[in-house]
Amino acid sequence: MADAVKYDVVVLGGGPGGYTAAFRAADLGLSVCLVEQQGRLGGVCLNVGCIPSKTLLHAAAVIEEAEEIGEYGVSFQKPAIDVEKLLKKKNEVIEQLTGGLDGLCTARKITRKEGRGVFKDATTLVVTREGKDEEISFSNAIVATGSYPFVLPGIPDDPRIWDSTDALALKTIPKRFLIIGGGIIGLEMAQIYSALGSEITIVEMLEQIIPPADKDLVQPLFLKLKKKYSIMTQTKVTEITPGDKGITVAFEGKKAPESGEYDAVLVAVGRRPNTADLGFDTIGLALDERGFLQVNERQETSVKNIYAIGDVAGEPMLAHKATHEGKVAAEVIAGHNAAFTPMTIPSVAYTNPEVAWMGLTEKEAKAMNIDFEKGKFPWGASGRALSAGVSGGVTKALFDKKSGRIIGAGICGMNAGELIHEAVLALEMGATAEDISLTVHAHPTLAETFAFAAELVDGSITDVLPPKKK
Ligand code: FAD
Ligand code: NAD
Repeated sequence: MADAVKYDVVVLGGGPGGYTAAFRAADLGLSVCLVEQQGRLGGVCLNVGCIPSKTLLHAAAVIEEAEEIGEYGVSFQKPAIDVEKLLKKKNEVIEQLTGGLDGLCTARKITRKEGRGVFKDATTLVVTREGKDEEISFSNAIVATGSYPFVLPGIPDDPRIWDSTDALALKTIPKRFLIIGGGIIGLEMAQIYSALGSEITIVEMLEQIIPPADKDLVQPLFLKLKKKYSIMTQTKVTEITPGDKGITVAFEGKKAPESGEYDAVLVAVGRRPNTADLGFDTIGLALDERGFLQVNERQETSVKNIYAIGDVAGEPMLAHKATHEGKVAAEVIAGHNAAFTPMTIPSVAYTNPEVAWMGLTEKEAKAMNIDFEKGKFPWGASGRALSAGVSGGVTKALFDKKSGRIIGAGICGMNAGELIHEAVLALEMGATAEDISLTVHAHPTLAETFAFAAELVDGSITDVLPPKKK
């Protein structure tokens, strides 16, 4: 069967990249067909990623805050956790958001096809649902097929060995929970399960947790987590053996025990792009050396009328990268002179405390031989941080010595994920330490700490002693 219409644009994949591209293309007057294999739009982000994890993290943060408020003379009883109700809340949030997407699609007169799409040639997609095929003709296609969790080789098949989707389903709250991978997913899940009562062990192969961020930035988080979790860095898992009483895991690492027994194991060691069995070979779509679809800054692939966006089109695999790329692809197809050339894509770990960074990290700036100055403001000197009981945080900002402009920033502490955007804007606008110092920040706020980090470089700091002149 074939759809009689030839669409200006077919979008393959209805995650944040795909639905944004479809919406923008429709708003620019193009006829759009959006193909999604799941019953619901929203992709990983809305269904099994950003949104469910943040809903559970919110509950976890409230549980932790209720414990920590003890030093203010306020005490609550141990929380009674109704996992069914928590799941219901998570699902309601997902349904509200995905339902909203359905409405936005209908209002824009976008044609929806539910089924798995595979390219037949460079102007035809075959969509299969329940054994029935439908051919869709298009002038342009945007591939937004996303990514899947990487499975370590040799991992046995056992219902107690989870990926992030299993973990978000809260099937059980394991007493002894091992998390393989000290990246963002591992740490966010640790936060959730620790608050719900699990004993957490984290194994990270590299030297530090959240390896892409600077070590000193992650330190306040590491120091806090270390008190509650067992964290083994520079450690590898060598064998996993499911047994009746638990899963026995063997380790290899400097400070690691030989083995341990756990009630559940989460594997969170990265994700891989969805590129297999989609007809990419048939139409000659080129992959890069890491297996992502190769794209330029206009999101164009190696095939003239085919574009790619989001997780399938390269790192960082973040929803806000996918949505921005989606808009660019739609605009290029509509004939606009658009390109995806941001100065930075911010990263946020929604842990407690949060870790957020943007631009260059210190280690990247050093590797690039950039001569820079650093302003690092400890939250122990921030009135707002002290009053909120979060004085362990830190804000740092890096400035290029030659141009004076900001090149990078990082924040570890409460609301870091919100606060980082001032730094992102500063970078996009080419701000110097003086520009930031002279921008009046309300007192007492955590946002002030960014201005103080700039004042440390500008030399105008009064809230701590100015650094000695070199
Ligand atoms: P996806 O969201 O993966 O969507 C791809 C869609 O394509 C899916 O719906 C899939 O069903 C569909 N599809 C694939 N192949 C086909 C086909 N052949 N036919 C039809 N449909 C197809 N990012 C953040 O920025 N912030 C966060 O807080 C965050 N938290 C996360 C938490 C977790 C647990 C996980 C796993 C990820 C998280 N991410 C987060 C990453 C974020 O979810 C992804 O970067 C984002 O979803 C990528 O969007 P996308 O549109 O490229 O792909
Ligand atoms: P990740 O790449 O962030 O972290 C994986 C970690 O596992 C790394 O620290 C890595 O060194 C470690 N690792 C790899 N192999 C290992 C092994 N054999 N043993 C022990 N450790 C090992 O990947 P992730 O946490 O799975 O997340 C996947 C993607 O999802 C990321 O790209 C991330 O950007 C995205 N995500 C983002 C957010 C957010 O923005 N808050 C949240 C969740 C996921």
